[in-house]
Amino acid sequence: MNPTYTLLIVDDEKQNRTLLTELLKDEYHLILAKNGIQALDRAIEHRPDLILLDVLMPEMDGHAVIQSLKNDDRTKEIPVIFVSALDSTESEERGLELGAVDYISKPFSPSIVRARVRNHIQSVHQRRLLEQLALLDGLTEIPNHRRFSQVYAQEWRRCRRSASPLSLIVVDVDHFKMYNDSNGHAAGDIVLRQVAQTLKAAVKRSGDFVARYGGEEFVILLPDIDQNGAEALAEQVRAEIESLCIPHVDSPVSPWVTISLGGVTQIPPESQDEPELFCIADAALYQAKRQGRNRVIWSIPTEPCIKPVVS
Ligand SMILES: [Mg+2]
Repeated sequence: MNPTYTLLIVDDEKQNRTLLTELLKDEYHLILAKNGIQALDRAIEHRPDLILLDVLMPEMDGHAVIQSLKNDDRTKEIPVIFVSALDSTESEERGLELGAVDYISKPFSPSIVRARVRNHIQSVHQRRLLEQLALLDGLTEIPNHRRFSQVYAQEWRRCRRSASPLSLIVVDVDHFKMYNDSNGHAAGDIVLRQVAQTLKAAVKRSGDFVARYGGEEFVILLPDIDQNGAEALAEQVRAEIESLCIPHVDSPVSPWVTISLGGVTQIPPESQDEPELFCIADAALYQAKRQGRNRVIWSIPTEPCIKPVVS
């Protein structure tokens, strides 16, 4: 039913591992561990969606295992169900206090094990859906500002480590307010969706990233490409939007909807912890607007960045 979900079963007794395997193997991908140390190693290696954890084990018991899991960023979000022969309220309380999501007493009933596992996997599934939705822009269905901030920070650090260039392009729809005023917001929304889809289709390498920054502003992140490559892509995107031939009768720039783009390419300096490219690319965008819009301007990241006021 959920072959995409992985369960880690931890029990020192082979008989219990076999029993749980028989119960759950048709619905989930299973990984087994026979002691605490193995459990921690496999949890880090496989990042299971749920852990069934025996309490009584020699050397490292279930309580010690869950404490280690909760202290590690890589495993702390994984839900844990305790499976225990210690049938006491006190033991159950202790387990839940340590962060377990549920507690099953041994000897267990097969149908209860299946039902509880299914419920918790369902919660995992719903939480992931919500997380994904929270990172998408509702109108254009591409990643939103929040997702951009995450990816941008990751890519900045990654490119800094590998001393590779990172390019950022800020994209703005020319005279969009005018378009909305003449055609209505519903028509404006359609333009934003078309622009989003065109940007997304143009940026094809894995690692390239497009998001809606807000309003009629979009961002493109291009790791591991030199300035010439990034500028060529920006120019290609500009031409593609113009060639959609979406009428914009009030625009002083073109009969069609057009975009202005400001970009910057930099190998993130060792000394700099926080990415600063947005401000520099935004200054280039401002220049593109001042020079008549429907064009690409590239900045050189030398001067300290002062955010321009864009009318
Ligand atoms: Mg045991």
